[in-house]
Amino acid sequence: MTSGPTIAIIGAGMGGLATAAALRRVGVDATVYEQARRFSRLGAGIQIGCNAMHVLRGLGLEPTMRAAAFYPRSWNNKDWQTGEVRFDQIFGPSAEEKYGAPYLLGHRGDLHEALLSAVPARNVRLSHTLVGLDEDPNGVRLTFADGSSTVADAVIGADGVHSTVKDLLFGASEANFTGRIAYRTTFPAELLGGYELDECTKWWGPDRHIVIYYVKPDRSEVYFVTSQPEPEFTVESWSAKGDMNTLRAAFDGFHPQVQRTLRACPDVHKWALVDRDPLDSWSDGTVTLLGDSCHPMTPYMAQGAAMALEDAVVLARLLDGVGDRAGIAEAFGRFEAIRKPRTSRVQLSSRTNTWLKQRTDVDWVYSYDAWTTPLAA
Ligand SMILES: Cc1cc2nc3c(=O)[nH]c(=O)nc-3n(C[C@H](O)[C@H](O)[C@H](O)COP(=O)(O)OP(=O)(O)OC[C@H]3O[C@@H](n4cnc5c(N)ncnc54)[C@H](O)[C@@H]3O)c2cc1C
Repeated sequence: MTSGPTIAIIGAGMGGLATAAALRRVGVDATVYEQARRFSRLGAGIQIGCNAMHVLRGLGLEPTMRAAAFYPRSWNNKDWQTGEVRFDQIFGPSAEEKYGAPYLLGHRGDLHEALLSAVPARNVRLSHTLVGLDEDPNGVRLTFADGSSTVADAVIGADGVHSTVKDLLFGASEANFTGRIAYRTTFPAELLGGYELDECTKWWGPDRHIVIYYVKPDRSEVYFVTSQPEPEFTVESWSAKGDMNTLRAAFDGFHPQVQRTLRACPDVHKWALVDRDPLDSWSDGTVTLLGDSCHPMTPYMAQGAAMALEDAVVLARLLDGVGDRAGIAEAFGRFEAIRKPRTSRVQLSSRTNTWLKQRTDVDWVYSYDAWTTPLAA
């Protein structure tokens, strides 16, 4: 049985679904409004750090993700040309023991599906594009693009890097385009014709890199993601189809393992890499932001979704037992105060693209458990 205030979550991405699932754990029945008409399985992998796995464990999703994802021995870091190891960050059982949860490499679609399974279907409303938020005597009025509207006690904007909720709260502002593009896709490993890849390697070149890993426990699916300069890419088409020949040319001269991967890959998407400086505020009264809507970051630490998952749990814990709007506004203020130092640190560290380039202190990232971290700012 759930009860309590009515909470509307905007966006059924990683952060929005995790928030709905975590709120259920504290007895709050939130409704998620998503602009998409249906969910599509984007060809992309995702590194699920030990800190993110703590979140998934608490949501009851650890067995699902262990069965769906690849369990790597390490995240290796090699020279782009010679293959010389710069730094091998060991995961596997030793990291699992140290950080209390495994490090997994999965398909983004599998993680999304797992999170969706933790939220009742009746609580996820597709084809709902939020366009307006207004004060209402009974709370906050949400207006959608189709003209429909509803009122909730509180609103959580988990609507990603191009957040409408952020624009409505604090004014529109473009995210910072880094001038770099990520090409990424997943494809069947059988297209490699028996050629065996490393389990997970980042190949560091002078001004670009590529990360390649398996996303299935049986190594049947491969994923890669690049970062390379392409400043002329228009941010308006921030997600688009990429050209394989352009991509292969951009990684000409890289290690044979990279060349084999790119030769075997049939198809790719490309994304403008954007981030923001830490925002001054995340919340206003009973409306708050969460995940990429308030702390979008470059993918170089593979922590963006992990931060959104952590946010979800901390926010749900703060809302546990809160019954009125004054209590919600206070919880949102505490949420921001507790979370911002950590997410800002990750945002700013990620921007430097030095994570694991050489021996790196990783404990502060992976040992964080959002279920037990103190709720004091
Ligand atoms: C190339 C790349 C690789 C990455 N790799 C990793 C990784 O390995 N590990 C990791 O932890 N993170 C990674 N990330 C980061 C991760 O993808 C994001 O941080 C994460 O998806 C953020 O989740 P979110 O829920 O905040 O936003 P999103 O996942 O973007 O979800 C936002 C949702 O809101 C919906 N929405 C938007 N506007 C509206 C509206 N007006 N009304 C209703 N719905 C709306 C969208 O349709 C979407 O479903 C990577 C990112 C990139 C670009």
